[in-house]
Amino acid sequence: MKLSICLVLVFLAFGNNFAQQIPLPAEKNKFARVTSYQELTDFILQLDKSSDLLTVETIGQSVLGRNLYALKFSASEFGKDKSKLKVLFLAQQHGNEQSGKEGALLLAQDLLKPENKYLFDKIDFAIIPQMNPDGSETNTRRNGNNADLNRNHLILSEHETRALHLFFDKYLFEVTMDVHEYSPYSDEWKKYGYRKNSMETLGITTNPNVSEKIRGLSKEKVFPYWLNYLNDNNFSSFVYCPGGPPEVDYFRHSTFDINDGRQSFGIQNTLSFIQEGMNGSDNYLENLKLRSEGQFTGMRGILEFVYHNKKEIQKLVLSERKLLVKGKADSQVSIQSEHVANGEKLRLPLYSYSTKKDTVVVVNDYRPVVKSMFDVLKPKGYLIPKQMKELVEWAGLHAFATAEFKDLKDVKIEQYFISAIDSIDFERDIIINPKVETMEIQGGISASEYLYIPTAQPKGNLLVLALEPKSELGLVTYKQYAHLLKIGELYPVLRVMKK
Ligand SMILES: [Zn+2]
Repeated sequence: MKLSICLVLVFLAFGNNFAQQIPLPAEKNKFARVTSYQELTDFILQLDKSSDLLTVETIGQSVLGRNLYALKFSASEFGKDKSKLKVLFLAQQHGNEQSGKEGALLLAQDLLKPENKYLFDKIDFAIIPQMNPDGSETNTRRNGNNADLNRNHLILSEHETRALHLFFDKYLFEVTMDVHEYSPYSDEWKKYGYRKNSMETLGITTNPNVSEKIRGLSKEKVFPYWLNYLNDNNFSSFVYCPGGPPEVDYFRHSTFDINDGRQSFGIQNTLSFIQEGMNGSDNYLENLKLRSEGQFTGMRGILEFVYHNKKEIQKLVLSERKLLVKGKADSQVSIQSEHVANGEKLRLPLYSYSTKKDTVVVVNDYRPVVKSMFDVLKPKGYLIPKQMKELVEWAGLHAFATAEFKDLKDVKIEQYFISAIDSIDFERDIIINPKVETMEIQGGISASEYLYIPTAQPKGNLLVLALEPKSELGLVTYKQYAHLLKIGELYPVLRVMKK
């Protein structure tokens, strides 16, 4: 009798979640293989049924027709309560980076535990555990169109990235994180005798046009918290730092390009991160359980941070986004930048192949700062010729706010003339660098032939980086848009400037 009362009390205290803890597909076979698309689908639909906290939304389909799922956790109606901080994580854009997906599923399972319910007093949280189901099924990096999804966030030519950005635009998440794996096992590093050995690494936004205050918060507060959180849970952790080996290649904090999952949200003044866990050598199943738990722990750490700092984050992101919406028409946008040194030395934790022990190597050629090399004045807006269907379609994919253009007295319209095309080094790639001459169009334009996109909107800086012909991150650097630049001709997109 007493025992049964006790059991009833336990059931009342923990509710449905406790009674229906659903095992992870990979757990069932002790992580001897990865979770398949079908198993993932079954698992998250089961989770969905088991809890009122969770709603599963199909946000789109992959190139080969597989569903892309977002798991939305909310104590009320997702996205409706303005006091809640909206947080989005995504995993496995690269199909051969399996631990991101498994870690995301571990997180989903964990968040339904009654002891974690407190998070949703302050947070509406969404996670997309599998951005690239087609690549996952064949354990390949690219999607079903042989495209690298994490270089596709500007041109949005792929189903998967389009679905993601539509989902982001719907809720305007204040915090995002993109989860990947890095490989430390190259021949160059083997020859050097060491390799990187941190279980988890974290990258923050580095594009110089992302709000300085947001970059500051990421570096000064979020990163140290995340580092300690992992160390407290016995996972080695470090800053995400591609490059090397020392003396062969310089070290930097990843790319500042806005075509990836981190900077494409960051450029909209989102508090945005990339987490890179260590992958499993040539065998992608090696240490899969540990790797998945590392990814899970890093994600859990970020959630814990944002829970405890919700007010500060919300206030900061809202005010920095307001600046974008105001447009600050006279502000400068950096369209060419470089990774530069600042005198700091990098103390890099490495694993020694000869002693089989961890050690620390001091790196001299460390370039942690992204410095602008070329700025443009941000125009009031851009005019896209309606006859250029590819540009009009691209503008539609980003759902830019457009406006009616009136050839007003207080504006002037500028057009670039392409006088030559040189080249420039961009993160060790040689890319085009056009020479341009700016000309003012006299006598106005035929407004009905153009689509007008003002820069006073959340994607204002993205717009400038995409449409300036000298932007090293611009549309013209993609083969689909290379035809916009021709030597001796006018660039078709016009700038509307304050007089
Ligand atoms: Zn990746």
